[in-house]
Amino acid sequence: MCIFCKIVAGEIPSNRVLENDEFIAFHDINPVAPVHILIIPKKHIENFQSVTPELMANMTSFIQDVAKELCLDKNGYRLVTNNGKDGGQEAPHLHFHLLGGAKLKWTHLTENDTHKSL
Ligand code: 5GP
Ligand code: ZN
Repeated sequence: MCIFCKIVAGEIPSNRVLENDEFIAFHDINPVAPVHILIIPKKHIENFQSVTPELMANMTSFIQDVAKELCLDKNGYRLVTNNGKDGGQEAPHLHFHLLGGAKLKWTHLTENDTHKSL
């Protein structure tokens, strides 16, 4: 069972902020912003590349609800999903990072990369 399936099953504890039949939102264990929430489907889906439009439709509404619940809807937030190896995905279960609570910087390249090479 993958790490987030264990969180769904309650085998690994999580600090949940919102949940419904299909999705869970919980605090990231290693936050990189004042607010850092992970949003996952309860069903195991590997990543964004394998999600269906039907599930994404419901997930979109759920993410919007989480943003409202945490009062991020007014000042804004960043929504990120890391897909696969080059995307930096470590947990092999679809998740969105909802980041907010401060004006965020935009840094996504590794130290050895340069903008020129893109
Ligand atoms: P990825 O790098 O796959 O996009 O993000 C995985 C995220 O899961 C990381 O931000 C990491 O801090 C978080 N994470 C890993 N294990 C756990 C855990 O057991 N509990 C929680 N709440 N977050 C976790
Ligand atoms: Zn899983």
